[in-house]
Amino acid sequence: MSADDEDSPTIIIDPAGDVVITIADERYPLSTASYRIKSEKLQNCSPYFKRLIGSSSFSEGANIQAQLVQLHKKYQDAKDAPTAELPSVNVDHIGQIGKVKDIRGLMTDFFRINHDLGISGGHLSVPLTNLANLCIVCDRFDSLEILKRYVISNNIFAGTQRRKSLPARDTWNEERSRMRMLVAVLLNHAPWFEDTAQLIAKGSRVWAEPEDTADRALWWDLPMIEDELKCRRSAIISTISSLLSHCVSLYTSGTLQCKLGYSNSLQCDVYQLGEIVKFFNRLGLMTLESTMAGTDGRDPFDGDIIKAFELLRQVPAYQIDKDHAHCGLRNRLIPSIDDIQTRLNQLAICGDCWSTDRAALLWTSAKKPLIFSSQSSQDETRRRIMRTSKLGHTCTKSHERIRDLCLSVDKNWKIPR
Ligand SMILES: [Zn+2]
Ligand SMILES: [Zn+2]
Repeated sequence: MSADDEDSPTIIIDPAGDVVITIADERYPLSTASYRIKSEKLQNCSPYFKRLIGSSSFSEGANIQAQLVQLHKKYQDAKDAPTAELPSVNVDHIGQIGKVKDIRGLMTDFFRINHDLGISGGHLSVPLTNLANLCIVCDRFDSLEILKRYVISNNIFAGTQRRKSLPARDTWNEERSRMRMLVAVLLNHAPWFEDTAQLIAKGSRVWAEPEDTADRALWWDLPMIEDELKCRRSAIISTISSLLSHCVSLYTSGTLQCKLGYSNSLQCDVYQLGEIVKFFNRLGLMTLESTMAGTDGRDPFDGDIIKAFELLRQVPAYQIDKDHAHCGLRNRLIPSIDDIQTRLNQLAICGDCWSTDRAALLWTSAKKPLIFSSQSSQDETRRRIMRTSKLGHTCTKSHERIRDLCLSVDKNWKIPR
């Protein structure tokens, strides 16, 4: 950043700039600064600034246009004009960025990118926070396209990925993950959509405490996908819950579940039912209580869905005696968990379909199927493959498989005995 002179806080983006923009965001009073920019370049990249300084339909724009006419009469070349004589305009909000001490570096980078100058200090290794904040500022001023071109042509995604400051791969950090998702959504960067899988599986610490979000960075309320992430998590939890209830209902149905048909088969079922309820109860996934006084709404499961599957897989092979080796829950639950987990490989929002077929991808806008049969879906799936999305994506069918299972109003669990 270079200053015009000692007395002026103006940061010169382009010495031949013809307009001064003062950024005075009330959240950063100590970072108020002016930037000498070239109005034509900024307007070309940012419809926001085109409206603000180039449109004669607004008084501010008309005023600046009139001043520019005078300026060009006085100075043939704008670079000869002293900064103090340039028309100026104020902007008071730069977007919901994450906390920084000083916004001048960020705003300098914003204006530099809009002048095809690249960020100050080079682009080899841009911290993730800076990239996410730049996205927020560019989103605020409608100039994501130029940022996207700059980031792609300089391979900044890879540089950000390689930075040493990144925590080890196995330590999940929700805030960093959210920054990557924000960049993915705003710059249409497909690979970083993968982070959505973990947030869906683990849930967010901010979903349970809907406190004041006014001062939070934009990545804490991800544009376009925050509701989608919540919707997917809650639909998956409902699906697992439905499976557990179904397992219990098998043993309370009156239809014999014991595979042997011995005289003690009824006792075998009763024994298994008791063990199932105790097992789910130990995991904190089921309770038995009287409903006489009504039931109070309990909060939904707030743990890690993938860990819940691991716990369920540990279900012991309960046996009433040595003959009844395959009568219990284990034989029924594990194949169903295998089935759901195979589908859940498609848990993340697909970055490819996000760019090309968003309407078909979103669970929030999908029609809920009335009924879904867990094991008899092959025909339906085959039918769907035939009419893949209009762009012919091969992944569409797998997205639909998990979506229809999770969103269906009734789930017809076909569990092998
Ligand atoms: Zn049995
Ligand atoms: Zn896809």
